[in-house]
Amino acid sequence: MNAHPGLSADESKVVDAVEKRLYVGGQWVDASGGSTFDVLDPATGERLCSVADASPADGRAALDAAVAAQPAFAKRSPRERADLLTKAYELLLERVDDLALLMTLEMGKPLAEARGEIAYAAEFFRHFAGEAVRIDGGYQTAPAGNARFLTAKQPVGPCLLITPWNFPMAMGTRKLGPAIAAGCTSVIKPAHQTPLSMLALMDILAEAGVPAGAVNCVTAMDAGGVMEPLIRSGLARKLSFTGSTRVGRMLLEQCAEKVLRTSLELGGNAPFIVFEDADLDEAVDGAIAAKMRNMGEACTAANRLFVHSSTIDEFGRRLAEKMSALTVGRGTEPGVKVGPLIDEAGLEKVQSLVADAVERGATVLTGGEAAAGNGYFYPPTVLTGVPRDAAMADQEIFGPVAPLTPFDSEEEVVAAANDTEWGLVAYVFTNDLRRALRVAESLETGMVGLNQGIVSNPAAPFGGVKQSGLGREGGALGIDEYLETKYIGIAMP
Ligand code: NAP
Repeated sequence: MNAHPGLSADESKVVDAVEKRLYVGGQWVDASGGSTFDVLDPATGERLCSVADASPADGRAALDAAVAAQPAFAKRSPRERADLLTKAYELLLERVDDLALLMTLEMGKPLAEARGEIAYAAEFFRHFAGEAVRIDGGYQTAPAGNARFLTAKQPVGPCLLITPWNFPMAMGTRKLGPAIAAGCTSVIKPAHQTPLSMLALMDILAEAGVPAGAVNCVTAMDAGGVMEPLIRSGLARKLSFTGSTRVGRMLLEQCAEKVLRTSLELGGNAPFIVFEDADLDEAVDGAIAAKMRNMGEACTAANRLFVHSSTIDEFGRRLAEKMSALTVGRGTEPGVKVGPLIDEAGLEKVQSLVADAVERGATVLTGGEAAAGNGYFYPPTVLTGVPRDAAMADQEIFGPVAPLTPFDSEEEVVAAANDTEWGLVAYVFTNDLRRALRVAESLETGMVGLNQGIVSNPAAPFGGVKQSGLGREGGALGIDEYLETKYIGIAMP
């Protein structure tokens, strides 16, 4: 008999195959008292399965395991750590079909996007396998000539890693890759909506040879109750968090008590700017990529589309035509391009932001109305004439809604784009090289996509300025977040 009503045999199989307990010290263990919480399928709102609900004591046991494993793990050679990551990279790709299906079931994104995320996630391991063997130091003569300065890089120590639900695998490997490469042990806590991908990764890491205690995973409903004591314990040396700016601010305060190294990848409010000289087809395709990846549930999602007033009508017509042709449905079904939003709260937020914009005078070019029925589906929506004081101009929409606002001058649009507390990414479409560089330099963001709607790449430094975060993940800088620099002075009289 199928243990999961509503799931196919293949779907039930991948859900059943995942260990649903806590991964601590290389063992799968139940949460204290056997507590569990439910994981739901956002396409139906139905329960998929239950996973262990860690208590603060369970969290502490995981951190103790990471602390105990730290000295020996730091002594593993860079080549050994690189080999662990390479093996894990290969296993992720070997199992892409099952892992993608699992991700679609817990998160909702279409299967093709889930497969893309597994490949992207695996790429962080490949990238950091290369970085592990390139950790370098320095040798310098003191200015007075009477000493030598050696600089060495050492692992920061045990890390706490907290990830969001929107990229359930890649946000984990983006942290675990550099942590393992640097020789840091860790406790990772995925979001309660999407714990299964990270639990599946634990088996892969064990199979790849990651030693017991070097990576631990706790799943919990009360994230704050479990993580705050760990942050304040002084046993961990670093926190790396990806999630909302609201929670990131709170965690930064908690980290202050023991002065933890802190990396924060927070929310965004990306401007997407189309100048009058842009290639319009390229800009429309870029807007679809920047808006519709992950159903708009991405920190990098184009949140405010500024289009020159001479082309906004034509741009809006072409964008609405392409957006309305995208098939909405359960992510497991063939041809589906737009899956459900993560949960009821996510759907309600999108609905209220659209209602607010329309009330303030925006016009709906396509979409704008959630379909009745189960699951948290919202149709691809284009709004034009969205005033700059609409609520969605100042909040992450986190849904498939593209709000268009006209502008007339470069100066005006740069000022409008920068008029936000966030600064993660901006997109600029223009064929004028000087303008492209001028605008890219003036935008207060950590990343800029020039004539392209996707910037994420494991080999590039991902991160934001202002209230979008601290630090960079990926690229050559990514590993530095997990390394301390030690200076050794040698007298040479
Ligand atoms: P969230 O509510 O901030 O949650 C993120 C993670 O923090 C989850 O694991 C959550 O656990 C945990 N958490 C919540 N409250 C906590 C607390 N008091 N102490 C410790 N941990 C706590 O964000 P989300 O809704 O999952 O994710 C969406 C946000 O992430 C958006 O703002 C998006 O822009 C941002 N994001 C940023 C990036 C980037 O690289 N800049 C990438 C992806 C997403 P539970 O869910 O189990 O409560």
